[in-house]
Amino acid sequence: MTWVAWTTEASDQLRELVADGHTMQSAAKAMGPHVTRGMVAGRARRMGLKWATPPTIKMDKKPKKERKRVTVIKLPKPPPPPPWHGEALELVDLTPYSCRWPVGPGDRWTPQKFCGAPCGGVEYNHPYCAPHERKAGRYYRRDT
Ligand SMILES: [Zn+2]
Repeated sequence: MTWVAWTTEASDQLRELVADGHTMQSAAKAMGPHVTRGMVAGRARRMGLKWATPPTIKMDKKPKKERKRVTVIKLPKPPPPPPWHGEALELVDLTPYSCRWPVGPGDRWTPQKFCGAPCGGVEYNHPYCAPHERKAGRYYRRDT
């Protein structure tokens, strides 16, 4: 790059070009191949020169599309499925696919009973049936 600094001659040339109504681009072009539009713009700003207002390019403004109003209807939460009305199971009767939610009395004289409803499977990390998963605060998904 041969351009080193804004000499007084260069600054005067720029002042004249701006006074003649050049645009930044044309002034940069007139000053030589090593002068960029950005250099000219910065120098002119520092010198306090006012550019003739460049012709503004008017873009065809597309009319804004009318947005369709969509009414969002909040559906009420579906009621939880009815609890299992099957027989509660004892621990020894549980299969890997029966709910392990404790329902029984669980005192010292009678064995603890469990819900026993079909569940996703213990090995799939779904030890409870859907209502009990929800009650336990777990998100129940059948697909896993
Ligand atoms: Zn259950």
